[in-house]
Amino acid sequence: VYRPMGPDSNPDLCLSKEEQRRIRKFVVDMRVKKPIIFVDAYYDHAGQALCPAATGITHHINPWGGIEPCPIVQFTKDNIHAEGKSLKDKLDSPYLKDFRELARDTTRGCIVLERPDLLQELIRKHDAEDGTARQTAMAELKAMQIRPSQYAPSDAIPERSWAYWLAKRMFFNDFHAYDQRDHSTNSAPAMLTREVSVPSSSPVSVPLEMSVQGADETTDPSS
Ligand code: SF4
Repeated sequence: VYRPMGPDSNPDLCLSKEEQRRIRKFVVDMRVKKPIIFVDAYYDHAGQALCPAATGITHHINPWGGIEPCPIVQFTKDNIHAEGKSLKDKLDSPYLKDFRELARDTTRGCIVLERPDLLQELIRKHDAEDGTARQTAMAELKAMQIRPSQYAPSDAIPERSWAYWLAKRMFFNDFHAYDQRDHSTNSAPAMLTREVSVPSSSPVSVPLEMSVQGADETTDPSS
């Protein structure tokens, strides 16, 4: 699933909510039809979305050893080569802990796609360094807009294959990272729904500096 980060990103390649639903359905269906293994990292056994970085089971190490929350959040505070601090302490740094809390609080989907503005605030708060060679990661983040991600609360598609269902239930799920979290306010589905529900005669309220992309994608394309 394409994320429009990097120097030559193409937001037109981002999938709409409906396209993401079709891909999820295709993967679930193929898992019971084809004798091959499909790997995905964005859904649990019940079809609920998750972010591996938010659950804390993955991190990204850049080519210089910088520890980043995930491959497209290219900001770092610690380095695996630095001495005087254990790897556990580096992975539990205030920056990474705050990232996980923010991501868990905001959405079950991808915070980069859904709320790049909140991510910017977090990076500024921790004064995290740009971990790229090109040194344009913040400008790229600023250019992002609110978009739907894998989180579609009303459209979960559970695994049909018992083997995948069981394997995910046991080994790949949200590990209770989202327990007691309310995603009805700050997630992209909530914000985009609020946007399209504004009467056309009223001024459109966009609570961010950036515009909201994909508002029309929250409506059923068949209607
Ligand atoms: S922040 Fe987005 S891109 Fe990064 S691991 Fe989470 S869902 Fe994937």
